[in-house]
Amino acid sequence: MIDWITGAYSGLTAAKDITKALIEIKEAAAVSGKALELNAVILDVQDKLFNARNEREDLQRQIKELESKLASVESWEETKSRYQLVSIHDGCHVYIENGQEPDLHSPPPYYCPTCFLNRNLVILQSPIRTMNRRTYKCAVCGTETLETRA
Ligand SMILES: [Zn+2]
Repeated sequence: MIDWITGAYSGLTAAKDITKALIEIKEAAAVSGKALELNAVILDVQDKLFNARNEREDLQRQIKELESKLASVESWEETKSRYQLVSIHDGCHVYIENGQEPDLHSPPPYYCPTCFLNRNLVILQSPIRTMNRRTYKCAVCGTETLETRA
């Protein structure tokens, strides 16, 4: 952005110098030549200002995108802090809300650990029951988690 400011400033300084020379010139042919030179400088400054406006708009869009991403991260961090990773079987982990305990008879909602790492809170659904175990499956990513009675 500094480049266009410097370029625009240099262009305006050149335009001022040309204008000063125009005032001092007495011949029409010389005036015409300086007017063309002045016009070229003005067009160059306009081009630099146009590019600067585009760059400014790009930067404003990037700021809005980053602000949105930051809000999303902050929101997820707040959500994430309300859950804990627990083991419900050897090597099988799920997320549950803080303050709850895994329970084979009356389980709290279990959340998919794979989706959780992707900032997605997905309840594991439809346990498949056998003698003393349940198998939960994530409807989003397909992760299966086994829970057994100790
Ligand atoms: Zn999942």
